[in-house]
Amino acid sequence: MKKNTADNSMDKIISLCKRRGFVFPSSEIYDGFAAVYDFGPYGVELANNIKKEWWKAMTQMRDDIVGLDSAIFMSPKIWEASGHVKGFSDPLTECRKCHARLRLDTLLDEAGIFADEKMTEDEINIIFEANRDKIKCPNCGAADFTPGRKFNLLVQSNLGNFTGDWTKEPTYLRGETCQGIYVNYKNVLDSARVKIPFGIAQIGKAFRNEITARQFIFRTREFEQMEMQYFVKPGDDMTYFDKWKETRWQFYLDLGIDPANLQWHKHENLVFYAKEAYDIEYRFPFGFKEMEGIHARGDYDLTQHSKYSGKELNYLDPATNEKYIPHIVETSAGVGRTFLAVLSEAYQEEELEGETRIVLKLIPKLAPIKIAVFPLLKNKPELVAKAREVFDKLKMDWRCEFDDNGNIGKRYRRQDEIGTPFCLTVDFETLENSEVTVRNRDNMQQERIKISELENFFRSRI
Ligand code: ATP
Repeated sequence: MKKNTADNSMDKIISLCKRRGFVFPSSEIYDGFAAVYDFGPYGVELANNIKKEWWKAMTQMRDDIVGLDSAIFMSPKIWEASGHVKGFSDPLTECRKCHARLRLDTLLDEAGIFADEKMTEDEINIIFEANRDKIKCPNCGAADFTPGRKFNLLVQSNLGNFTGDWTKEPTYLRGETCQGIYVNYKNVLDSARVKIPFGIAQIGKAFRNEITARQFIFRTREFEQMEMQYFVKPGDDMTYFDKWKETRWQFYLDLGIDPANLQWHKHENLVFYAKEAYDIEYRFPFGFKEMEGIHARGDYDLTQHSKYSGKELNYLDPATNEKYIPHIVETSAGVGRTFLAVLSEAYQEEELEGETRIVLKLIPKLAPIKIAVFPLLKNKPELVAKAREVFDKLKMDWRCEFDDNGNIGKRYRRQDEIGTPFCLTVDFETLENSEVTVRNRDNMQQERIKISELENFFRSRI
């Protein structure tokens, strides 16, 4: 087993993210803003590449799934119908000594006591009382806590409310993207020539007032989800559920993740309407944790929205004339968690002639920069001009970077750290024979390639 088992590897990844411009803490010059992060110049490329791969796998490669981009703000009635206004909450306790607010289920779980966020306030408090002696505040070590209470995770706003006291009738920033899919199900059905079984895919921001948001970008208050809702005939749920489990597992292998770092987690304590729920967990540097959820949700969502909106959300089967509310199998992944998994997987340190080479062994499709183009020397205009010419040609097809700063060894190291699979150098020989040196990130081998052959060379490798 390689890497990401070392205790300090999370610190190393966080440090690389800051140093090389992948992830910055939000509002840093104002001392930060808890549990919110920004993607820097290379981070935005990596996140976009993850989303591109997901979108391709879930829409372009299939003829049964269409895309959607619904708004973040929706009618507040949607969040009542979905159960979020009443029930989207985590159990919270406060340390009476240092006033840290903590998730009670996590505290119990970390002490080896079974608890989860779906328990009622009473259920979790009974377990809490029985185990008080085993629980200490992770912040100050004290053992004096307030009783657990449910804390709603929906983020509220005053959008469209001009009454002065908007808290009485708040609007919400969406807590999950899938509600936008459910409420557009009928529009898609009427406009997109889809037939059951079919899916609707969406990528977008979601917001949650997470109580304890630790572990870098693993748990943030603003994050992005990649969700797909698959509408099936009642009774077919489990057939499609098993297929989606397989398909989504394969997606992570295709992103270069070692199957030894993945595992299934079956939910034992299901919400009342769910038929089955599994998570794909990744071995993050802090242990196996959820990266994606796959849920058989029955007809709960469409039934609720039909009830609250008063609109019929039935499907009329064109072959049998049967009318029914479709059942839903959902796949729900986070961009930030996939980003962190891919980085943890790719991060390697290699000992090279007494120094350490940090290298991100990202698959080329995910690498923020595919090709770095270097003139051997900065102060030779003919080399710079030739390198620019090569760069201008390659940038039409790939995200490239031009770099003429510092010695070649340093330029290689910098590209290794951001995961660039190929570096290309224009030298004096290039001016005579039109060949450049292409250096491979993983084995550091170099080969001479004709400029006219570069496009074919890279096309077969990226
Ligand atoms: P957890 O139990 O870790 O809070 P969850 O079960 O509430 O997660 P879902 O509601 O199933 O998560 O959301 C689907 C996916 O969205 C998760 O698998 C995760 O990748 C992502 N996600 C959820 N909450 C967050 C968050 N606060 N920060 C980053 N990603 C998140």
